[in-house]
Order: sequence, then C-alpha cells, then structure tokens
Amino acid sequence: MTSLRLVPLECGWLSTSASSVVAGLEGNVELPIPSWLVIHPTGQTALFDTGLHHDLVDGVGARYPLMARQFASRFDSDDRVSTRLEKVDVDPLSVDNIIFSHLHFDHCGGTSLIPNARIVVQQSEWDSAHLPKLIEYEVYNPADFDLGHDVLKIDGPHDVFGDGSVMCVPTPGHTAGHQSLRVNLESGPVVLTGDCVYWEAVLEGMLLPPFGFDHDLQLASMRKLRDLRDEDGCRLLYGHDATQWAGLEQSPSGII
Ligand SMILES: [Zn+2]
Repeated sequence: MTSLRLVPLECGWLSTSASSVVAGLEGNVELPIPSWLVIHPTGQTALFDTGLHHDLVDGVGARYPLMARQFASRFDSDDRVSTRLEKVDVDPLSVDNIIFSHLHFDHCGGTSLIPNARIVVQQSEWDSAHLPKLIEYEVYNPADFDLGHDVLKIDGPHDVFGDGSVMCVPTPGHTAGHQSLRVNLESGPVVLTGDCVYWEAVLEGMLLPPFGFDHDLQLASMRKLRDLRDEDGCRLLYGHDATQWAGLEQSPSGII
C-alpha cells in the first residue's frame, strides 16, 4: 500500500498592503493561494480549499468589486485548481472530498471545477457564509461554494477517512467556523493552518488581522496550533506564507 500523500497546489497569488491583513505591519505582501491535495492510501482524495475563482484571470474586480480595492491578483488559466490537479495526474472529476478551512473567496473559488466531491465544512461556517450582510460586503459569496454538492456540515473535530489519518481541527476566530487540517504523514504529522495563521512570523508575534469574527477566539486557536507544534511535534504549513511555500515540493509525489 502506498503512503498518505500531501500535494501542495499553487492556485494563484494575491498582493495587498501588509497592514490590510496583519494590523501594524508596513509595506506590501505577496500571498500564495494554496489548495492542498491529500491522497489516502486507499486512493480516496480530499482537497483542503480550492483556491481562487477562474474569473480572476481578469483581475479581482471581475468578480469582487469591493475586494478589488484591497487586493490585486496574479492568476492565469494554469492556476485553476482543476488544471493543477491534472498536472499531478488527478482527474478533478474524481476528487472525493473538499474540506473547507473557511469560505472566504480565496479559499473556495475553484469549487465549481470539482463537481463530484462531497463538501466537508463546519456548520457555523456554512451558516455564517449565508448571512445577507456578509454577502453584501463580499465577505462571502455563495455562488463560489453553494453549488449543489453534497455537504457534510460538522460541528467540532472530524475524522475524514475514519482511520485517524486526516482530522479536521476546529480553529475558529478568523471566521465563525474556521478549521485547520491535521494530516498524519509517515514522516510526521503536519497541520494545514489555513487563515488561523497566515505565515510563520504571525504566530511568533501572535499578530492578528485588522478584521475577523472574534480576536479572542483566534488567539486561542493560534495557541492551540502552537501547542500542536511544540508539544505534539506537528509541522505547521501556513495559509499564505510565501517563504515557506517556495520551499515545498509541488510534484505529484508531494510530501509523504
Ligand atoms: Zn480568510
């Protein structure tokens, strides 16, 4: 039997002023937009997030006029999650699960390209993402994610494949139902932090975005991830860390 594999997929980039994503920082930041493919030894697959919507080939304003005031995108057709999957020899139509860290536009934009998957999302995130006020402000856009897939709404931790190898770890605060994903690779456990931690220095400084659902909850979630690193030996893979991203193996063999 082959090993559990984790394959990082690059689904475009966003750039913005650092202070718009982390309070108090200066300058600009380039943010990789990842989707993460998990291939279970049985052949079942899960995607953790789906990247940017393919409309963003024409810029952020092509789909999100308000977000375009804050973010610029670098995205071409090769950055579609479906194309990235094909490049690592996985048929987008065959993907079994989409696990959402949360439902912001840079985490669920490619969902229409993965039509046969079951979505796994925290119930509180799904509910929050349908609130009219948040849709009006472009915090969420149900046209990105509410597309008729089977949706498994969970409330708390969840064992994705039923064998403890891949676990949803609730890390609320950035949004109401944000979750991270623990993947117990042969080389050791990794945790995909999602937007609970954008990049490494944010965790060291316990820095917060200028926005968010609940900052106290987010700090508690950040401490939980730090404990998973320091006490459980988990390697953290951050949500938008350009330096870490550049060092990851993005071939079909992935991280084992
Ligand atoms: Zn987010």
